[in-house]
Amino acid sequence: MLHTLTKTALALALVSALAGCNTVSSTEPEIAEVAAGDISIETMKDVTRTLSSDEFEGRMPGTRGEELTVALLIEKFADAGLQPGNKGSWVQEVPLVEITGKEFASLTVSGNGTEMSFAPSKDWVGVTYREDAETTLEDSELVFVGYGINAPEKGWNDYAGIDMTGKTAVILVNDPDYETEGLEGDFNGRAMTYYGRWTYKYEEAAKQGAAGAIIVHDEFPAAYGWNVVESSWTGPQAYPRRGENAPALTAMNGWVQKPVAEKILAAAGKDLGELSNAAKQKGFTAVPLGLEVSTSFKNDIRRFSSKNVIGQLPGAERPDEYVLYTAHWDHLGHCTPDETGDDICNGAIDNATGTAALVALAEAQAKAGPAERSLVFLAVTAEESGLLGSDYYAANPVFPLSQTVGGVNMDALSMAGPAKDIVVIGPGKSQLDAFLEKALTDEGRVAVPETTPEKGYYYRSDHFGFAKRGLPMLYVKGGGDLVNGGPAAGAAYEDAYRANAYHGPNDEFDENWDWTGVEQDLQVYYRLGRMLAMTDAWPNWVEGDEFRAIRDESCEPEGGC
Ligand SMILES: [Zn+2]
Repeated sequence: MLHTLTKTALALALVSALAGCNTVSSTEPEIAEVAAGDISIETMKDVTRTLSSDEFEGRMPGTRGEELTVALLIEKFADAGLQPGNKGSWVQEVPLVEITGKEFASLTVSGNGTEMSFAPSKDWVGVTYREDAETTLEDSELVFVGYGINAPEKGWNDYAGIDMTGKTAVILVNDPDYETEGLEGDFNGRAMTYYGRWTYKYEEAAKQGAAGAIIVHDEFPAAYGWNVVESSWTGPQAYPRRGENAPALTAMNGWVQKPVAEKILAAAGKDLGELSNAAKQKGFTAVPLGLEVSTSFKNDIRRFSSKNVIGQLPGAERPDEYVLYTAHWDHLGHCTPDETGDDICNGAIDNATGTAALVALAEAQAKAGPAERSLVFLAVTAEESGLLGSDYYAANPVFPLSQTVGGVNMDALSMAGPAKDIVVIGPGKSQLDAFLEKALTDEGRVAVPETTPEKGYYYRSDHFGFAKRGLPMLYVKGGGDLVNGGPAAGAAYEDAYRANAYHGPNDEFDENWDWTGVEQDLQVYYRLGRMLAMTDAWPNWVEGDEFRAIRDESCEPEGGC
């Protein structure tokens, strides 16, 4: 699971239960009856124990831990009865680059009779996504672009009528209606949308031709302090290596402290508060500030390659239609030692469990015999570095996304024991919810919506790279209403994991774990995959969802979906 603080723009932690999730559009897809799967918990234990052993060194991409992990997965996929998933090969090479910025100059802003200088780290941070030894921003015109959103389906374009070529965008965090209490509004009220994520804001600025993109840090909508921005945006940053025809990138992406943005806007004769309010209104368009920004820094560049592991179970009737299971195999490798000196972040829960689930599901699906459609088991790399392996596959799919029906992502299974519910991250987004509903009914459980949609969890694990390219993906979490102890016990488990184990050396295999909850969850995952592989339906995003138009567009010329 991707780090909650370092890699997201969180919204405020409002806590109020939602009143049920609104599932699916009027045309319900037909859902086949499927029997329960023959899931081996011995396989789950065996694979989780091995992947999270110290020998695997925390499964950091590009290390010996990767070599051992990839070899083990190939062996286990083959033993389970899968075939190689990438044209005869079990792996897909994922070219990565690590860029470490250094020798940062100040950020200077000039014009309108003033010149201001801001210190790196203290006032601003910046990185480049380009593989350039030196990054320079020279006299780039500053433009305040509000939330930096171009959402044609919502009739919203902060960039309307402005040419951003060579300019630098100053962008607000989150999306325009994040302060709403409910979930109504152009941007789903307090629930975060993709448009609220910093990843989106940088991508859109690049699409607009901007040279720089600077997000204004604000503790309230971001829900974390400047120290978190500073620590996560300095030091080595891993990115996918981009091909020749990759979309344009900005020269620099960065953040400034809110008081810095206030000073810059004041120098332009503007008020950040007033402009922020204006930016919440539909019809807002970007405001040129009449100022220019400059800075420079150098970059150390290390190119390396990691691997996604892919197996498939070909379908008997429509083998060129694919159903996808995904889980990330990587974790953090060596990390800050605990008080005992243990410096291996083993990632037993996160995500040896999800990776083992790929193997256990492969076994169970193989034992049930071929389905109508093909089932694909994809273990992706570099999730912890920013969803890189899954994003690479989604951008370079072995099986075309237009021929892929949908998928399920598994990240950090719950060892809390059996639960009456299962938590849906991003409920009501697609018709896959109907399949989930059916799988849960068959298992005597219920779906409940996530309680903190403002945290944007749907945008923070491996399903997201697929979703943003139009493929409907489901993401669920082990339930919180435990059979033994109810919601209080569920919350206690979650709190203890966060406090003691998450992304630390204590996320280790425990021989005393209760696997009955995992067994339950795997039946749901099994049924979901099987049901999707035994129908000819093409479940879509619901009308108005942010990913619907992309799916519809990609389906049109290519057939399949
Ligand atoms: Zn993680």
